[in-house]
Amino acid sequence: MIRLATVSPCYNEEDVLRHSVEKLTSLFQRMIADGLITRDSMMVFVNDGSRDGTWELIRQLHAENHFVRGINMSRNVGHQNAIMAGLMTARGWTDAIITLDVDLHDDIECIPKMAKEFEAGYDIVYGVEVSHEADGFMKKFTAQTFYKIQTTMGVENVYNHADFRLMSRRALDMLSTYKEHNLYLRGLIPLIGLKHTTVDDVISERNAGKSKNIFQKMLNLVFNGITAFSVRPLYAIYHIGIIFLIVAFIVACYVGYSILFGHIEPGWASLMLSIWIVGGFILISMGIVGTYIGQIYSEAKRRPLYHIAEILA
Ligand code: UDP
Ligand code: MG
Repeated sequence: MIRLATVSPCYNEEDVLRHSVEKLTSLFQRMIADGLITRDSMMVFVNDGSRDGTWELIRQLHAENHFVRGINMSRNVGHQNAIMAGLMTARGWTDAIITLDVDLHDDIECIPKMAKEFEAGYDIVYGVEVSHEADGFMKKFTAQTFYKIQTTMGVENVYNHADFRLMSRRALDMLSTYKEHNLYLRGLIPLIGLKHTTVDDVISERNAGKSKNIFQKMLNLVFNGITAFSVRPLYAIYHIGIIFLIVAFIVACYVGYSILFGHIEPGWASLMLSIWIVGGFILISMGIVGTYIGQIYSEAKRRPLYHIAEILA
């Protein structure tokens, strides 16, 4: 039996919260009856500086329902930071934590499956979206495109995985050693390693309330994901510089050919050649500077060098 916690960030969620707690409560009761989780398992709600009555409601639910615990942020810190606050606070209370959005658009039947995988010895279980019944074409399309851009940029990512996942106490302790500020959990957690697996998750409609992750926020998250995990854009400058020099070489060949066999406009050759050669050298220099900045950047994040999974001594 495991002592399980769910952690859900809440921003202006008074419309959905009670309903979600009810659904999770009956799920928890079933899992307790099945001998999967302990009676003192819990659901932790992180109030991320909501402007409505979310925190008052969490208080009330905490008084009514022994599973419910609450964490109140001093202001709105955003989805990723709110999850991190919940994980770092609740990791001392449990064996494993599942993060899920409070609107329960993820399939909560994955929770017992994740718990079983944890019992089978997995430290991280990723919920992987197999079908987006509820998402419109635009959301699907943008999500897929962003995912592809990130993969191209070399960001390690679990395909079609958002922030619905189980992490063991051990994995959470390892996560706590990452001190970076531009938090992108989807990119960070695969760096932990350990034994991991996936369960299939069917996304459904939000229960109530409105989605707060507007396009701008999503774009920020993706941009953050790339710049926090990849220095490839910096190296790209260097490669563009090389391309400029190749073009300069082709122009030079053309100029040579024109001088020998044809007629040439005065001033054209020197002008064209200077543009491509100087441009090429400037870009290469920027690429070199960029490479050093990339090195400084990865040092500045002070990521842990390794995690030890097991020692036999
Ligand atoms: N959320 C949060 N802080 C924010 C924005 C959102 O804690 O600044 C929470 C929100 O309450 C929800 C989750 O993050 O539990 C995902 O947000 P939402 O459902 O609005 O986004 P979507 O699922 O549409 O991407
Ligand atoms: Mg949602």
